[in-house]
Amino acid sequence: MTAVLLDGRAIAATVEAEVAAQAAEVTARAGLSPGLAAILVGEDPGSALYVRRKAEAAGRTGIRSETYHLSADVTEEAVLTLIDELNARPDVHGILPQQPMPPQISPARVFARLDPRKDVDGLGPDNLAALFAGRPNLLPCTPAGIMLLLRHAEIDPAGQEAVVIGRSLIVGKPTAVLLLQAHATVTWCHTRTRDLAAHTRRADILVAAAGRPGLVTGDMVKPGAAVIDVGISRVGGKLRGDVDFASVSEVAGWITPVPGGVGPMTIAMLLKNTVQAAAGLMRVPLTR
Ligand code: NAD
Repeated sequence: MTAVLLDGRAIAATVEAEVAAQAAEVTARAGLSPGLAAILVGEDPGSALYVRRKAEAAGRTGIRSETYHLSADVTEEAVLTLIDELNARPDVHGILPQQPMPPQISPARVFARLDPRKDVDGLGPDNLAALFAGRPNLLPCTPAGIMLLLRHAEIDPAGQEAVVIGRSLIVGKPTAVLLLQAHATVTWCHTRTRDLAAHTRRADILVAAAGRPGLVTGDMVKPGAAVIDVGISRVGGKLRGDVDFASVSEVAGWITPVPGGVGPMTIAMLLKNTVQAAAGLMRVPLTR
């Protein structure tokens, strides 16, 4: 292997330590610790695991967390009513509707109902508009985590060719916008892209967020590129990314593992957003 491993777990641990210090500061000054409420709908085992991991990480950093586990046949109206209640609670500073949701529930309507100040996933219309306008407030967690991984590796996107595979609202779109705002020349690829490899081979920074295990192989990567693997798929009981690690790690300059790359960063950024939201709502200026 020639690529340098971008160790998301290690970087996330440094973010968690900062978040813990900030949470302690907020708690001391406001008399109330930051609070996060997760909404989990249905029995998707992956989602249940993510919510549990997020709650554990919250506990490590001094953030109170609670999970509302609703049945798979819950109505959208009931979810929206719960969000109204959480919006009104002064002890809840961050609300996390875990995706995916069952088909009767529109994620767009759910995120639009959140108080934008409590939208710690940064996926509601106000926070997305602020991001696109270049005045970000609460950033979507996975894209923010990707940018922090690059910063820790001292990879400056300015002037570089960045290629993002995937255009979802949760990963692909906001990641491309953040790379553009960091002055990269950005190409967005998706299922209708003709000749994906022709694009990926030009990338100095390649972000794979397609949810297709092993999609990116070594012959599709420019030597020395930074390859960020967002994909998480379960194949034969094991987690696999979108990047074929064995072949790509022989070509790339940097690579993230799956698991242990983008996943822990996403959780760390959620905690960071929750403390930021709490500080804002309780008017505690953060000194760190
Ligand atoms: P999604 O299904 O909403 O979007 C996938 C995108 O990839 C689409 O825009 C589609 O056009 C594109 N795509 C799919 N196949 C392609 C192909 N063969 N060539 C080119 N483009 C293709 O998924 P999502 O919610 O954006 O998630 C993507 C992946 O990232 C999933 O595996 C998901 O589990 C993972 N994920 C990981 C984290 C994390 O914290 N690590 C967070 C969110 C999502």
